[in-house]
Amino acid sequence: MSDHIGVLRLPREVRFGFGARTAVAGLAAAFGERVAFVVDPFLADTDDFRAVLTQAHDRGCRTELLADVPPELPVASVETAAEALRSFSPDVIVGYGGGSALDAAKLVALLLAHPAPLDRYYGENAVPGPVTPLVAVPTTAGTGSEVTPVAVVSDPSRAVKVGVSSPHLIPAVAVVDPELTMTAPAGVTTYAGIDAFVHAMESFTAAPVADVGADRLPVFVGRDALTEPLSLEAARLIHRSLPVALAHPADRRAREEMSRASLLAGMAFGSAGTHVSHAMQYPIGALTHTPHGLGTGTLLPFVLQAFLPAIADRLAVLGDALALDAEGDELARAQAAVDAIAELCARIGLPASLAELGVTEADREQVVTLSLQARRLVDIAPSPVDEHLMGAIFDAALAGDRSLLSGALEARR
Ligand code: NAD
Repeated sequence: MSDHIGVLRLPREVRFGFGARTAVAGLAAAFGERVAFVVDPFLADTDDFRAVLTQAHDRGCRTELLADVPPELPVASVETAAEALRSFSPDVIVGYGGGSALDAAKLVALLLAHPAPLDRYYGENAVPGPVTPLVAVPTTAGTGSEVTPVAVVSDPSRAVKVGVSSPHLIPAVAVVDPELTMTAPAGVTTYAGIDAFVHAMESFTAAPVADVGADRLPVFVGRDALTEPLSLEAARLIHRSLPVALAHPADRRAREEMSRASLLAGMAFGSAGTHVSHAMQYPIGALTHTPHGLGTGTLLPFVLQAFLPAIADRLAVLGDALALDAEGDELARAQAAVDAIAELCARIGLPASLAELGVTEADREQVVTLSLQARRLVDIAPSPVDEHLMGAIFDAALAGDRSLLSGALEARR
């Protein structure tokens, strides 16, 4: 399969930059006069959000506000939220907040256009047609949810969080204003920021699976010639700016670069997909109740180390993009890139091992089994993954020792 093909699915309009938030009301009003806002409870109380509401009213819009969808998005709360808006019958839904609020807005938009229960849409390509139009306004940098075809919910009947993935969930409009991220506390900046880095790295290294000539494509098609430059630029910006945004939260350039990187990484992984760090985070997140980005970020250096022999050429290119100036052959330069990623994770205060997240040896079988069941993620891993390789990544990440992975890929063959 050639890398020189491309699939890119995006909102029809993306506005980016300081001040972009003043366009939200006008962009929403263009869809009709009934505007529903699904807003993070913390953000609902801010001057910036109240200004958007006022601007919507000034344009003659009627508005409804949902500001109580809980962060882990229990499926029942999403279904209740959709019911609460049904009689209002909005022309457009504005999602305003972090990834949780944006995912809630996507799922409410889905349930307003198609019948409940939500579980009939779990998995890939199960949404039968367009959803209520969405305007997505992220306040973290970030999940990239403002441009992606996926939303994640918690379903008590499932062992791990579940995704609804469909191009119909891609917001019609994304408005990304770095100003809105300036108040994000250190924990949110760290975990959302490193998750964006994982999006960049996994979309850059995902195995290509698409046949561009096919009638119907999977939602996630692996890396390609269109997403690669987006992934690389996102990784470069985050490597430079995440530590700065943490050390100096008021640094506007660092916040701008993080918002831009999260947007670019979302554009890339929204078509290419992510792989093994995400597959492993779902069961680990369920076991330890730790934030998504904390899990994916802690796992990333181990996942890249495991696949290094299969993606040495790509990691060497990444090293050049990060200006690492590493010497030696391709393998040495690839190793330097993985080492630099591990250093970034340490510098922003991520744990060095899964043990520090509360994972134990006793969790091994469950994590390995459930990770392998995340087929949409595992199927686009850089090379085929079996129980042995997944177990080797778990063991190394549990111990915090990447050297345990030397030869793991070859041993599997
Ligand atoms: P979040 O939306 O869960 O918010 C975390 C906390 O940060 C909340 O308390 C919120 O009130 C606060 N917050 C958000 N923005 C703030 C701001 N500007 N100032 C102060 N506080 C702020 O965090 P997140 O990391 O953006 O999203 C995580 C969720 O996104 C997870 O549920 C994950 O599964 C999902 N996700 C979705 C996608 C996708 O493509 N759909 C991708 C990655 C992650």
